[in-house]
Amino acid sequence: MKKLIVISAPSGAGKTSIVRDLLTQVPSLNFSISACSRQKRKGEINGKDYYFLGIKGFQEKIAEDAFIEWEEVYKNQFYGTLKSEINRIWDLNKIAIFDVDVVGGLNLKRMYGKNCLAIFIMPPSFDVLRGRLIKRGSESDKSLNIRLDNAKKEMLRKDEFDKIIINDEFNLACMQTKKIVTKFIQK
Ligand code: 5GP
Repeated sequence: MKKLIVISAPSGAGKTSIVRDLLTQVPSLNFSISACSRQKRKGEINGKDYYFLGIKGFQEKIAEDAFIEWEEVYKNQFYGTLKSEINRIWDLNKIAIFDVDVVGGLNLKRMYGKNCLAIFIMPPSFDVLRGRLIKRGSESDKSLNIRLDNAKKEMLRKDEFDKIIINDEFNLACMQTKKIVTKFIQK
């Protein structure tokens, strides 16, 4: 059966680290590499972390109807899942795992219903989230405030997900996520 797992959370809640941990622990998972229009950050690799298309390349893919879903997650910053990506993963007989924003995650859940497990990762508090984003140091003040405003809105939608994990203690959050994911895979 073609299954997929969506992990969504506000920026800074730790979803990317949880997804990385899952990928090392659950061999049947394969990461869905999103396309995006933003610049690469230090250490990121094209075709591994994202397909970095630039704005023009991204718009071309929209025009070609190449996306299953895409969002303007921040102003002029586009992110989306290419249809070719999910097919690549299913052709490998793997389960696709997505690290996407809340709107994209809920759209995938709506499209794939029971074949999709949608997990929301919650930061223990808003202050902790702010602290983590500041510590990460990848955002300007303006971008930090945009991400925090966005986070507030995203947290309001947590109950629309199948499961909620609170990422207070990272190892515990990873264990809880792995348990839920394994159960879903075995179903
Ligand atoms: P970042 O710039 O920090 O890598 O990601 C910004 C946000 O875009 C994150 O919330 C991330 O989960 C989301 N995102 C990444 N890929 C996709 C995608 O394919 N679709 C959607 N809707 N959001 C995505």
